[in-house]
Amino acid sequence: MKEVHCAICNKNVKNDEIALNVKILGKQLGSIRCYDCLAAVMNCSTSKLTELSDYYKSSGCNLFKINYLQ
Ligand SMILES: [Zn+2]
Repeated sequence: MKEVHCAICNKNVKNDEIALNVKILGKQLGSIRCYDCLAAVMNCSTSKLTELSDYYKSSGCNLFKINYLQ
């Protein structure tokens, strides 16, 4: 299992965080950000991003079915 780190704070990011990055910012897997740093960039709260993530996941978005950490 591979590890992906946040491009800004270097924290380990989870699969859902990666999926949300891809969903929002497109396929720039070299610059994945954790929810905290992504929230700062997008000027919204971290909880808003987790909600968004859950929403996309429950709506069956294919990007959230990919295992980015394989
Ligand atoms: Zn970060």
